[in-house]
Amino acid sequence: MIKKNDQLVVTIEDIGADGEGIGKYEGYALFIKNTAIGDKVLVKVMKAGKNYGYAKLVEIIEPSPYRVKPRSDKAEKCGGCQIMHIDYAKQLEYKENKVRNCLTRIGGFENIPMEPICGMEEPYYYRNKSQFPVGRNKEGKVIIGFYAERTHSIIDTDHCYIGAGVNGPIIRFMRTFIEEYNIEPYNEKEHMGLLRHILVRVGYTTGEVMVCLVINGRDIPHKKELVEGLCKIPGMKSICLNINTSKTNVILGDEVVRVWGEPYITDYIGQIKYRISPLSFFQVNPVQTHRLYRIALDYADLKGDEVVWDLYCGIGTISLFLARKAKQVYGVEIIPQAIEDARTNAAINGINNVEFFVGAAEEILPKKHKEENIKADVIVVDPPRKGCDQKLLDTIISISPVKVVYVSCDPATLARDLKYLCANGYELKKVRPVDLFGHSAHVETVVLLSHRNCR
Ligand code: SAH
Repeated sequence: MIKKNDQLVVTIEDIGADGEGIGKYEGYALFIKNTAIGDKVLVKVMKAGKNYGYAKLVEIIEPSPYRVKPRSDKAEKCGGCQIMHIDYAKQLEYKENKVRNCLTRIGGFENIPMEPICGMEEPYYYRNKSQFPVGRNKEGKVIIGFYAERTHSIIDTDHCYIGAGVNGPIIRFMRTFIEEYNIEPYNEKEHMGLLRHILVRVGYTTGEVMVCLVINGRDIPHKKELVEGLCKIPGMKSICLNINTSKTNVILGDEVVRVWGEPYITDYIGQIKYRISPLSFFQVNPVQTHRLYRIALDYADLKGDEVVWDLYCGIGTISLFLARKAKQVYGVEIIPQAIEDARTNAAINGINNVEFFVGAAEEILPKKHKEENIKADVIVVDPPRKGCDQKLLDTIISISPVKVVYVSCDPATLARDLKYLCANGYELKKVRPVDLFGHSAHVETVVLLSHRNCR
C-alpha cells in the first residue's frame, strides 16, 4: 500500500496530459513533474489516491537518453514549457504516439492512416503573443515575468525562449519606467495598485509590434515618457491601455484605449492579411499555423465548385484560406467580436465569397441547411478542447458532405467524435498531427474523413 511521504524508485514510461512523467511502482501509477520517458528516478509521494498518485522528483538516478538541458533555466518552475527537458525529436514522437493511442483506445481504430507529425524546424522564439504579469517580490522589488506553474507567484525574467525576441527590450524598458515614475504594480490579493500585465503582440511577417498595458484604473501617468521609450523599439506600431478594474484573474478587460499609433497590428498567414487588436484571438504560432491550414486545405482538395462550411471559425482564418479555392465558404462562430474581425479580414483581403454567421455551429448549420437550402460539399470543424457538440455531429451525418476535415486541439475528444462519425457513414482517410506548441504537451491534429457512399 503506497502512502504519502513514501520514497520510491520508478522508471518513467509515459507522459501525462500536462507533460508530467508517469512511472509505475508495482502497477501503481505515479505522476511526476519534470521527468522524461526513460528516467530512473527517486521520488517522494505527495498524494496517494486509490488508483494513482502524485510524487515529487527527489533525485535522478539514471537520466533518460532523451533528457536535455532546457535552454531556459526557468523551465522547471514556469508553467509554460512543461517538457523542455525532453529532446525535441522525442517530444514529437511522444505527441504522434499520443494521437495514435487516443485513436486506438478511445476511437477503436485499427490501421490508422497516420502521416508523420509536422514539427517545427526551430522550436524557439515562436510565440507572437506574450502576457507578462507585473508585481513586487517579498523585498518590494518590481518583478515582471511569468506565473509559476499553477500559481500566481511571478518568476522574474526578461527572457523567454519561446517568446518573441522583442519582449526583452520591452520588459527592460518597462522595469526602468515603473521604477523611475513610481508606477505601482497591481497587487492581486489586496486588489490595489495600477499595472497588472504587459501584453506584447508581434506580427511575425510584418515585424509590427504592439504593447498593451493592462491597468487597474483608467489612465497611466507619464504617457509621454512611456511612448518615447517604447517608440525606440524597432517595429513599434501600437501602444494601448486595456482597462481591467475587476477583482478577477482574467487578464484582459473589455475596454481598450489607444495611447499611440494604430489600434491594431497587421500580420500575414500565407498570402492572407489579418488585423490583430489587443482583444483579437489569433493563433500564437504563425509558422506552424500556416502549415496546419495548408494541410487542412490540402485534405479538403477543393476544385473550385464546392460549398464549404468552416465551423468554429474564430476570426475566419481557415475560412479565408479555403475561400481562394472554393465557390462559397460559410463560417460560423459563437463570439460576435470574432465574427466582426472575420468580416474585416475578408474585406481587407478583397475576399467576397465568404459569409460569416454568429451563433452556435450546432444551431446555425441545421437551420441554414433546412430553411435556406444551403448545401455543404465539405465541412471543416475546428472546435475547442471539448470537441464537437453531439447535435452538430448528427447534423453532419444527416447532411452527409463528401468530406469532413476535422482540426482538433485535443486528441481524446477528436477520437470520440471520429468514432461516432465513422460508425455513421464516414471513413478515416488521413491523420496528421501538427506541433503548434513546442515544449508543451499540446498537440493539434488534422483529419480527413470521406463519406463511404461518395467514393
Ligand atoms: N478556427 C479558428 C478558431 C478555432 S478555436 C482558428 O483557427 O483560428 C475554436 C473556436 O470555437 C473559438 O473561437 C470559440 O469561440 C468557438 N466556439 C466554441 N463553441 C462554439 C459553438 N458551439 N459554435 C460555434 N463556435 C464555437
